[in-house]
Amino acid sequence: MAVFVALGAFLMTLFGGWVAQRVTDRRHLVLGLAGGLMLGVVGLELLPEALEAAGDEVFGVPQALLLFVGGFLVAHLVERLLAVRRAAHGASEGRVPQVGLTAAGAMVGHSLMDGIAIGAAFQVGEGMGTTVALAVVTHDFADGFNTYTLTSLYGNARRKALAMLFADAVAPVAGAASTVLFTLPGEFLGSYLGFFGGALLYLAAAEILPEAHHEHPARSTLLCTVAGVAFIWLMVGLVS
Ligand SMILES: [Zn+2]
Repeated sequence: MAVFVALGAFLMTLFGGWVAQRVTDRRHLVLGLAGGLMLGVVGLELLPEALEAAGDEVFGVPQALLLFVGGFLVAHLVERLLAVRRAAHGASEGRVPQVGLTAAGAMVGHSLMDGIAIGAAFQVGEGMGTTVALAVVTHDFADGFNTYTLTSLYGNARRKALAMLFADAVAPVAGAASTVLFTLPGEFLGSYLGFFGGALLYLAAAEILPEAHHEHPARSTLLCTVAGVAFIWLMVGLVS
């Protein structure tokens, strides 16, 4: 059952990436939508799940939220380090391809965890498994869309973006299959969700959205962002 569901995740991810690469002539709209999808996934899906799974407080603050802030800072740090290294090599101002690959790599790691979450939930029970599976499959459109967009945004070749997309599509299947071998503590999953949420929000707010408005400060781009958030809300509402 878990592997069958993972197949749905696989196809949904590819579909998201396919849509992203079909609309490259409307780049600012694509980026606006990606920013909205990321904000929606972070605020409406990852954070609520993280708070539910990792409830412990550290010095008055929920652990999941500390990791959320930590994820934001680490993403900022990585982006700065790569940019500085690029400048030291005398390269011209502009996008750093490694940032795109690192971000897409994080998306692939996240999708692996999505698959592990599906498998782990089915270990708890059929009902729990179905709920988590639906949540993963419905947001995998956003995962695929963002993986392709992030890779190509930073000047990586289309071939690389497609490779990252394929890796992102295979990851949930591999993750779900791997849970035959081990079980994961729920608290770890919650901490991870918080951390990934922080990193994703950084990418959306500091990279994707400014880029979306860089050349075309347009109302249609803003509408795409709001539509992205609304899409995730709709998916969350349909599943819960
Ligand atoms: Zn995901």
